[in-house]
Amino acid sequence: MSQLSFSSLQLQSDLLNNLETLGYTSMTEIQSQSLPHILDGNDVIAQGQTGSGKTAAFGLGLLEKLDVERFRIQSLILCPTRELADQVAKEIRKLGRGIHNIKVLTLCGGMPLGPQIGSLEHGAHIVVGTPGRIEDHLRKGKLKLDHVNLLVLDEADRMLEMGFQDALDAIIECTPSERQTLLFSATFPDQIQSIAKRIMKQPVMVQVASTHDSTSIQQHVYEIGDIDRLTAVRLLLMQHNPESAVIFCTTKRETQEIADELRRYGFSALALNGDLEQKDRDQTLTRFMNKSISVLVATDVAARGLDVEALDMVINYQFAHDNEVHVHRIGRTGRAGNQGMACTLYDEKEHYKLDALEAYLGHSIEVESLPSFDVLDKPISVPLMTTLRIDAGKKQKIRPGDILGALTRENGIAGSQVGKIQLAPNWAYVAVSRDIVKKALNMLEQGKLKGRKIRVQRL
Ligand code: AMP
Repeated sequence: MSQLSFSSLQLQSDLLNNLETLGYTSMTEIQSQSLPHILDGNDVIAQGQTGSGKTAAFGLGLLEKLDVERFRIQSLILCPTRELADQVAKEIRKLGRGIHNIKVLTLCGGMPLGPQIGSLEHGAHIVVGTPGRIEDHLRKGKLKLDHVNLLVLDEADRMLEMGFQDALDAIIECTPSERQTLLFSATFPDQIQSIAKRIMKQPVMVQVASTHDSTSIQQHVYEIGDIDRLTAVRLLLMQHNPESAVIFCTTKRETQEIADELRRYGFSALALNGDLEQKDRDQTLTRFMNKSISVLVATDVAARGLDVEALDMVINYQFAHDNEVHVHRIGRTGRAGNQGMACTLYDEKEHYKLDALEAYLGHSIEVESLPSFDVLDKPISVPLMTTLRIDAGKKQKIRPGDILGALTRENGIAGSQVGKIQLAPNWAYVAVSRDIVKKALNMLEQGKLKGRKIRVQRL
């Protein structure tokens, strides 16, 4: 990581002071390489993975450029998934805290259109969204992009992979041609090069050394021999006892089967795949991120936007279909300086994939033996937290403080036993320590939130 400080950049003091409050002391590699060009107004293509600090790279660029007095949409950020868009919006709000009255709006699929149209009528400076939904609003004439002077394509490779090419073209067509364009992508297939050629002007290329180098991620590779993959996964989970682990596999069906099997053995595991309804996806992610579920079994696409500060472990159920995807998967552990562990299972037939990965990385990887079967005799540890779902949310004007208050009133539950609180439009999730779940349920059911009785369900 580079040691350059943000103060070497031409950033307004409100942004700089806030960065200091956030504890962003030095720039990450991608930031130090791309920000000077972004601030100079150049188009930039950057190889940015989740965890590299790419959001702050383009976020600071667009906040510096923003004229808050002009209440028009000046920046548009396109993301492949709603989870990523939410995360990006959150990071931008965080970075922009020092500037008054910035309005960041997210427009994503899977959410009702009506409220989005309402928000659009109120106006915004920055829009973050998914291509399909942004295109819908453009078609309906509800969204105008004539004042956009900065366009960001985040995880461009995924957007193309998910079939958003046409939507992207249609959206870009509606933005002024004299805009600045920033493109972030983990991989650079031909399709990216060709879109870049069409929509960018003399882009500066920024390629950073991978953030998932051997210093922060231990990469372990196991040939399974005659052990079946599921047992191999159980051995690894039992040996290392991760608080949060993601198992990557290829098909949606596989995610479900593995998660079901793991649950049968007593692990707290859930599947995350594109077949789930948005509500169930949100619920699964919430439970994983608030530490009530320790294992998530996911496809690559579904795991996009997954932002867990300290993902302890990634298990590749089989090698990814290409090396860049592999590197991207394992980059999800060990981020922000945490030690991560990446395990890959393969069988004899896939040996050539290990050779290819070694050639790609330029170093050899030692094949290790799986843990011995003794580890299966230990009890499986359960997550520390449990999620409660409350049948009231943002629309009922519930705020996190109301829920915390209801739990901790009259010496009920100690604040330290309450974890993340997350609000959705019509419900809220709160994580509480597993050992006080009953009491938490009682406190909530017997109390009131915003003057009304609520129903609570343990998930
Ligand atoms: P991203 O790659 O944009 O998803 O960012 C990964 C995480 O790193 C986020 O939680 C950011 O808040 C954090 N982050 C970004 N830039 C810095 C920085 N310069 N110093 C410390 N943390 C950072």
